Amino acid sequence: MGKLLIVGTVAFDAIETPFGKTDKILGGAATYIGLSASQFGIDSGIISVVGGDFPQEYLNMLNSKHIDTSGIEIKPEGKTFFWSGKYHNDLNTRDTLITDLNVLADFNPVVPDKFTDCDFLMLGNLHPSVQMSVIKQIPKRPKLVVLDTMNFWMDNTLEELLEVIKKIDVITINDEEARQLSGEYSLVKAAEKIHRMGPKYVVIKKGEHGALLFHDGNVFFAPALPLEEVFDPTGAGDTFAGGFVGYLASTYDISFENMKRAIIFGSNLASFCVEKFGTERMENLSQREIQNRLKQFKELTQFEIELN
Ligand code: AMP
Repeated sequence: MGKLLIVGTVAFDAIETPFGKTDKILGGAATYIGLSASQFGIDSGIISVVGGDFPQEYLNMLNSKHIDTSGIEIKPEGKTFFWSGKYHNDLNTRDTLITDLNVLADFNPVVPDKFTDCDFLMLGNLHPSVQMSVIKQIPKRPKLVVLDTMNFWMDNTLEELLEVIKKIDVITINDEEARQLSGEYSLVKAAEKIHRMGPKYVVIKKGEHGALLFHDGNVFFAPALPLEEVFDPTGAGDTFAGGFVGYLASTYDISFENMKRAIIFGSNLASFCVEKFGTERMENLSQREIQNRLKQFKELTQFEIELN
């Protein structure tokens, strides 16, 4: 079993969907990644920063899932990163209403000694210079480095982002971001171009339409489970990435065949995340529920066909 280090935001989110509205609740990319990866019983830790306004009970909750939070710096005088978003009726698109960087504006991540020997490194959505700083603090290259990013960093810090992309093994981005990064409309061509930028594995997330994994001329596709109710898509992409890397860390196997299973585990966990506001569903998820839904996944994708 591998040790997983996660870097990303730990945040307050205020979310509005067609079904309701929340005040400031727990959010952040690293929070979703950590909760998702924790389902595999691995040794994991988060590197992030929060303000004095961040409740200790949230840290306790993460600790109760065996997520090490000693790498989450608390700046008593500062305020926690705050993001607010409003979803459109289709739930596939959203407007960002507020992004207050607060303590994140001058964040210098420090990797605790006990995580400098991590086997798996998950670089969650953050400023590329923070992602690079974490890479540089790890003396021996991890077995696998996975990166998640978004259009915001492509628009504002492309050169720095490209430097990070050179150093990683797997990139997870959504379809629009893959098109923006590569300048190609076809996702097959986009993946080819992104391979040439560095990563041997390219994962393209297509929301309710599933996810694609590209590697060395091979493609694998996993659908998203058709759900009766989608309540709040916030964090689904991060939950997917957390499930993907968490499964790989728990099996210590980074073969293409195992990555296919990791994609299924990631999609499976993301399907729970969207059922309730914020992190609520991921905080209260049983192994039985996960297994039952995996069965549904199998049934959804299996078919018999005779080939001549
Ligand atoms: P997702 O729905 O997977 O895109 O992730 C949503 C999470 O990302 C929320 O919990 C936010 O706190 C966090 N987030 C929003 N904007 C940013 C940003 N610019 N950088 C890092 N994290 C962000």
